[in-house]
Amino acid sequence: MTNVHPEVGWSFENSYSLLPGKLYSRHNPTPVRDPKFAILNESLAKSLGLNVNALKNEEGLDVFAGNKIPNGAQPLSQAYAGHQFGHFNMLGDGRAVLLGEQITPLGERFDIQLKGPGRTPYSRGGDGRAALGPMLREYIISEAMHALGIPTTRSLAVVSTGESVYREKVLPGAILTRVAASHLRVGTFQYIAQWGTVQELQALADYTLNRHYSEIKNTEQPYLSLLQEVINRQAKLISKWQLVGFIHGVMNTDNMTISGETIDYGPCAFMDTYDPATVYSSIDRQGRYAFGNQPYIGVWNLARFAEALLPLLHEEQDQAVKLAEDALSEFSKLYKAKWITGMRAKLGIFNEEMEDESLIDELLDLMKEHKADYTNTFRVLTYEKIENSPLFETSRFSKWQENWQARLKRQEESIESSKKLMQNSNPAVIPRNHKVEEALKAAEEIGDYSVMEKLLAVLSNPYTLSPNQDAFCTLPNPLDGPYQTFCGT
Ligand code: AMP
Ligand code: MG
Repeated sequence: MTNVHPEVGWSFENSYSLLPGKLYSRHNPTPVRDPKFAILNESLAKSLGLNVNALKNEEGLDVFAGNKIPNGAQPLSQAYAGHQFGHFNMLGDGRAVLLGEQITPLGERFDIQLKGPGRTPYSRGGDGRAALGPMLREYIISEAMHALGIPTTRSLAVVSTGESVYREKVLPGAILTRVAASHLRVGTFQYIAQWGTVQELQALADYTLNRHYSEIKNTEQPYLSLLQEVINRQAKLISKWQLVGFIHGVMNTDNMTISGETIDYGPCAFMDTYDPATVYSSIDRQGRYAFGNQPYIGVWNLARFAEALLPLLHEEQDQAVKLAEDALSEFSKLYKAKWITGMRAKLGIFNEEMEDESLIDELLDLMKEHKADYTNTFRVLTYEKIENSPLFETSRFSKWQENWQARLKRQEESIESSKKLMQNSNPAVIPRNHKVEEALKAAEEIGDYSVMEKLLAVLSNPYTLSPNQDAFCTLPNPLDGPYQTFCGT
């Protein structure tokens, strides 16, 4: 039953609460003292069928602050488990409340979740709260990912709470409203496989098929198809991360979605200097989640998903394991094919030649050797914008460029079409770490949101070159030292 609240346009359903009770706890957000809008995503609000003017009123603000429950919402926190840095733990929404599922005017279903709304039954020792800086950071990077064409959860609003949160220092508190195709995670399946019955596991799998994979729910082996499709979507997602130089930073199984969206923007960052060993997260000391490891961790996580599904794949365990292994062995082929196609496009190549991979590898090798900036190197190749980089002065690069040009001439498509393909495949701007930090500093320290708004405007259109981008493409000052990111703040 859909409940329509005419002023704001909330139109909630609560299908998750029809799942076995073990999967969630009904729970309301804890009200906050003095909420204020930090930012509202007006275009996203409109696409969800919300009335922006009404949202900007106190009533809209109170919903984003957790001070008022909108009509039709039945708030809950979700239970899940997960392998964190390889170790299995019971987790759950320790600082999140799902208000419900908004049904858009086009009939799509999106989770509306508050992140940072106070303690929940899954909070363990945590305060259930979030700080303003990290919530604004998630807003900036998730919206940049969306503009880059990468499947992702989105950010509808950030409100400051007027309350402090206590971390290493006292920080201003905030709540982010996250919008997602769903919050089903690999960890949700791990949780029910560990502590539920096979019937409960099946109920979760059926729900997932209905919600995200309805086209395969009537196949002969729907649960095997589910596994194959999730593998396919993750291969696609991770190839997209690799193509733009995105480092997730904390690819624990609870931070991998079943829908194939990027989720959990904690310690993530975009790589500047190209190096597969790049790690920004302060807690990832072993480099488990380094840039070049992401596809391997992806398949490791998917193996945990496959394990959770085993009882549904076949009655005989041996057979189930065989089916799971076969499905998992496809990941590397799927990933590689998507990555090579993407890399060809970044170089303006339409058709396939055997030697393409070595052409790509040679460029990446050169970038690594000369510590070249990943995004800006492709930007130079795309727009022929000359830049002072040692890479472009080497004879090895000249040789590579000759080979590349010769390769382009061997295809039917014109050089003009190649250029167009490159422009659509190489972002002219990304959320550079030092630019994001600059925007956050202005917002956090002096309440100046104009820096962030300018950055967001530029990031919203990454595949068209514009002079407004120039100030956002500069490299960090090496004297500032290596960049570091932090979890769970
Ligand atoms: P994450 O690193 O964001 O994936 O979070 C890992 C786990 O810690 C999840 O179960 C979160 O809900 C929980 N968590 C993170 N921050 C807090 C907090 N401030 N209070 C309670 N639980 C938290
Ligand atoms: Mg998480």
